[in-house]
Amino acid sequence: MTITESTLSVEQEINPWESASHRFDEAAELLGLDDGMRKVLRRPSMELTVNIPVMLDDGRIEVFTGYRVQHSIARGPAKGGIRFAPDVSLDEVRALAAWMTWKCAVVNIPFGGGKGGVICEPHLLSDSELERITRRYTAEIGEFIGPERDVPAPDVNTNEQTMAWIMDTYSMHQRHTVTAVVTGKPLELGGSLGRPEATGRGCMITTLQALKRFDLVPETTRVIIQGFGNVGGMAGRLMTRAGFQVICIIEYDGAVYNRHGLDIEGLMRHRQHTGSIIGFPEAEDVDRDQALLMDCDVLLPAARENVITSANADRIRAKILCEGANGPTTFLADAILAEKGVFVIPDILANAGGVTVSYFEWVQDRQGYFWNENMVNERLHEIMVTSFDDVTGYSAKHHVNNRLAAYMLALDRVAYAIRRRGLYA
Ligand code: GLU
Repeated sequence: MTITESTLSVEQEINPWESASHRFDEAAELLGLDDGMRKVLRRPSMELTVNIPVMLDDGRIEVFTGYRVQHSIARGPAKGGIRFAPDVSLDEVRALAAWMTWKCAVVNIPFGGGKGGVICEPHLLSDSELERITRRYTAEIGEFIGPERDVPAPDVNTNEQTMAWIMDTYSMHQRHTVTAVVTGKPLELGGSLGRPEATGRGCMITTLQALKRFDLVPETTRVIIQGFGNVGGMAGRLMTRAGFQVICIIEYDGAVYNRHGLDIEGLMRHRQHTGSIIGFPEAEDVDRDQALLMDCDVLLPAARENVITSANADRIRAKILCEGANGPTTFLADAILAEKGVFVIPDILANAGGVTVSYFEWVQDRQGYFWNENMVNERLHEIMVTSFDDVTGYSAKHHVNNRLAAYMLALDRVAYAIRRRGLYA
């Protein structure tokens, strides 16, 4: 049966696991993947739910639910971030774990895929409460993580500090310092140069490759970025430095627009002082839903899932969609964008710069030998350009869109690893 808007409810459309599964099924079908392999790869290999009791600052005890899902370890240790948010769900973490498997395979790094999340409202918690949640969560999942097993990293609402707490807690249990258990750490604790910028840099590199198909150069390219955090903020900064005109930034509380291009550094300072991007003197405040639909060359969603859905996809006016976030586009919106001829740089390619430099960090930790920033950036550039060419080359050869091409390429690589390893019984 063809999945159309009428056969899917809104809840189904915005469930990330639905989008991940539909795309998997489509790619598996086109690849002619056998039934057994589909069964192996369709579901995560391990799912863990933990209920973590934590003492709050006022002495009350609260119990937080956390997850860690390992989708596949066929190509190497599970790899993927941990997010803290009130609406984290097992289905979301499952989808994100699967996307990590495909992402690591697209950029051909020796990792499987995993993801974690804790249901909490980080903005309402103090630093010491966040530290206690992080440490207890780490202790609960401690048996399942490790440099050879599963290597967490930052994701939505987690950062270098969170990684330092995880590394310390894990190390205390091991009775020695194990830097390679997480990536995205502070530089002084075994982090890598270039890691904070890596996801945004990867988005810029893939966008630059895509521009060549449109006869565009950065100076004539208008970009709208949704999300101004780790990914969107960094992408905005790097892209303006490279000459792009970032004309609009959309955040959860509003959007700002300047048709000549925003001063991103100034906007960052404004947010630091006022707590919001709204009211930036050198820009116009605009409606956030309308901002997504404004005329531009590149739309770069860089926050959470379900930004482009069947409800707005037909009104997107960008030529290029660069998915800095994981899963910003629903499965139903894919077909609409394809029909409109939008050039999609799918998430599992566009935002893979982060995990690629995480891989470099893991390598450096294990060698105890640290690279300079040039080396990190050059190697990242090489991997992103090769992966972009692999995906677009696959798309041209097999007459499928970029997203399907990326999935098919990834599924094929992971299935190959499973076949060569064989089934242990
Ligand atoms: N959270 C990032 C992602 O979704 C980075 C994961 C990592 O570095 O392991 O790709």
